Amino acid sequence: MFATKVSERVYMLDTYALGQPGTVSAYLVKGPKPTLVDCGYASSYGSVLRGLAEVGTMPSDVRYVIPTHVHLDHAGAAGRLLKEMPNAQIVAHEKSVPHLVDPTRLIESSTKVFGASIMGLYGLPDPIPADRITAVTEEANLDLGEGLSAALVHTPGHAPHQISVVLERTKAMFTADAVGIVYPGMKSLIPTTPPPSFNPGQLVATIGRIRQTKPSELLVPHFGARRDVEWVFDRTIELVVKWVEEVKGLWKKGMPLDAATEVMLGEVARDAGTADLPIYAQVSVRVSVMGIMQYLQKNF
Ligand SMILES: [Zn+2]
Repeated sequence: MFATKVSERVYMLDTYALGQPGTVSAYLVKGPKPTLVDCGYASSYGSVLRGLAEVGTMPSDVRYVIPTHVHLDHAGAAGRLLKEMPNAQIVAHEKSVPHLVDPTRLIESSTKVFGASIMGLYGLPDPIPADRITAVTEEANLDLGEGLSAALVHTPGHAPHQISVVLERTKAMFTADAVGIVYPGMKSLIPTTPPPSFNPGQLVATIGRIRQTKPSELLVPHFGARRDVEWVFDRTIELVVKWVEEVKGLWKKGMPLDAATEVMLGEVARDAGTADLPIYAQVSVRVSVMGIMQYLQKNF
């Protein structure tokens, strides 16, 4: 199964990233102007199309595709999907646009983080023609028809160009990576603090701002619908602050990335109550430690 109804008009589309269920989702808002929020990796675009087929949405029906930010698990498939969606317009933050039009630098910086072989598994993003992208800045509103509208909100911290999306009638919020990762079946939260532009102050401020809008539920890319909104916000802030402090301590002692990752993996494992963390969770921890170390190198 690729599509699951999670909220009024909203379907979660499991992209089966690298063949794994429950790790990277996209969301479809069904209505007069079907809208896709996030796209998954380039290599898993076929899962998105299968999810759409399951809920009876033709690719040519899709009117908006919103990659919340340019990271490959969110925007990687956008260019490829757009070729199947002749009536769709990309809506993205203005800082994302250059990377969507020409992903060369994005591919270079992602290859530094993940290595060439993993990049091969993720797939490389296709360039998107500039005339198919509508850029937004701080805030924007999207009319989805029949009185349905979506607010796009700038949510920097995880990435400076990230946007989140709120359905105004139900207050369901597509968080993007403004909140931490909770994989199904693993009770611990993992902060999402990746390179190259993680900024803890901005991330905490962003959560302060979006919490004031009182979302009714959080539609999280990694992974699923959360109704324990306050817990997700509180725990994200708590762990981001804690991880930055801890990694700072390790980094000051000169500990390299691999060793610091081991320390943080130990904490996640304790929190999760199992030493047996799945490989995708281990990768998430490593990338988050890497992002914190890069932040420290730039700022301390
Ligand atoms: Zn992500």
